[in-house]
Amino acid sequence: MPDQAKPKVTQAEAEAAVRTLIEWAGDDPDREGLLDTPARVVRAYREIFAGYGTDPRQYLERTFEEVGGYDELVVLTDIRVVSFCEHHMLPFLGRAHVGYLPRNRVVGISKLARVVQGFGRRLQIQEKLTAEIAEAIQDILQPKGVGVVIQSEHSCMTMRGVNTPGSALTTSTLLGEVRDDARTRQEFLDFVRTR
Ligand SMILES: [Zn+2]
Repeated sequence: MPDQAKPKVTQAEAEAAVRTLIEWAGDDPDREGLLDTPARVVRAYREIFAGYGTDPRQYLERTFEEVGGYDELVVLTDIRVVSFCEHHMLPFLGRAHVGYLPRNRVVGISKLARVVQGFGRRLQIQEKLTAEIAEAIQDILQPKGVGVVIQSEHSCMTMRGVNTPGSALTTSTLLGEVRDDARTRQEFLDFVRTR
């Protein structure tokens, strides 16, 4: 979270920083094709890092108690993950599978996707993203259990460094009965594995 006491960096300062990087790379920031690039990059970063301006947990606050006795797993699979690694500021892209075992109430399914997107639009590592999503659902919805699995490809590995395109990192956070009850755990992992 941004430190409120620190002076806010202005748009002009952010654009100047991008200009510096262009020059440092060896190009001329004053040539025609690059003239508007600092402004575009800053606008793109504003969107990419929109998660700092929101609290994704608020998406989970509106719940529905009329579930007709439904007490089995609810699993939303293949939620697009777009995030940026905090070590290289390069994107990692992939899919999240999010499930929970309701305790008398459910949340609108689109909200699960919004939570993934909200936490994704920040600098972090995938391990932390996975845990944050699971813990937010556990804290607010208070289900009997939660499972979150994320698989993604990290640009910092695939386009530089060890250069291993196609390799994917899988992380998971399982809480409550999804972790401790063998049948529920297996059921959740089966939903995820068939993807
Ligand atoms: Zn990285």
